[in-house]
Amino acid sequence: SRSFHHEDTIVWIDGRVPVGGPHLTFFGGPCAIESEQQALESARIAKEAGVDVLRAFVDKSRTSPYDYRGLEIKKGLEIAAAMKAETGLPTVSELIDLRHLDLFLEYGIDVIQIGARSAQYSPLLEELSKIDKPVILKHGFGNDMNEWLCAAAYIMSGIDRERRSVSEGNRNVILCYRGIKSFETETRFAADIGMIPLVRMKSHLPLIADPSHSSGDRRLVERVTYGFVAAGAHGIEFDIHNNPAEALCDGKQAVNHEARRIIENARRIHALLA
Ligand code: PEP
Repeated sequence: SRSFHHEDTIVWIDGRVPVGGPHLTFFGGPCAIESEQQALESARIAKEAGVDVLRAFVDKSRTSPYDYRGLEIKKGLEIAAAMKAETGLPTVSELIDLRHLDLFLEYGIDVIQIGARSAQYSPLLEELSKIDKPVILKHGFGNDMNEWLCAAAYIMSGIDRERRSVSEGNRNVILCYRGIKSFETETRFAADIGMIPLVRMKSHLPLIADPSHSSGDRRLVERVTYGFVAAGAHGIEFDIHNNPAEALCDGKQAVNHEARRIIENARRIHALLA
């Protein structure tokens, strides 16, 4: 909370990419790794567009268990490492299963993401308090701000469930706003732009936003991105796919080469309002 930490926290990814404070940071890439070719082509498009950190998602928590959930974990992580080697960019990947954390670190994932479906799963959050890798923390579909910030506190304060003790945890938490469920079905989730300045007033943590998973529609991603940035987001995470029409996961919300225009314009808006 800002009540005892006034300054914006800046989280450094791989010691070279800042998130928070005066910086505007872009995270982008395919919703899921489907094959080496798809992942590398998407990574090249993301890099050319100006993305700072690549999405390299190897494990997907889907609504239906019959939907595409990713390749075998080690195979996916090998491709994630190849995406990083090819572009020189750090990578972010969602951790769903605690048993995969060591593998994620071994294969060089730079940022661990906690998705909406795991956002309040305390064993996962507690485990991340023991490492110092940056963590992107989304909020659940029905979480309010307090629940979201309390989830962040689990990672930051290192609460140990077995010993019931509190110690210093992982301070490298990046919040990611992704919208909540509402009665509206035309957009995938309802993203309240007011949450951006509100969360920034309450919390010193870097705050990014996800226009792909909130809108669920690539035709909305560009303008929603500008809205989030104008409202004060420190960064954007969005889906970039080499062939959205054929994507195995959430192709409807993925952009392609237009990512470059989106990033350039968003940077202009950010500079104008700085
Ligand atoms: C994602 O970023 O891939 C994702 C599944 O997002 P969320 O957890 O917000 O649904």
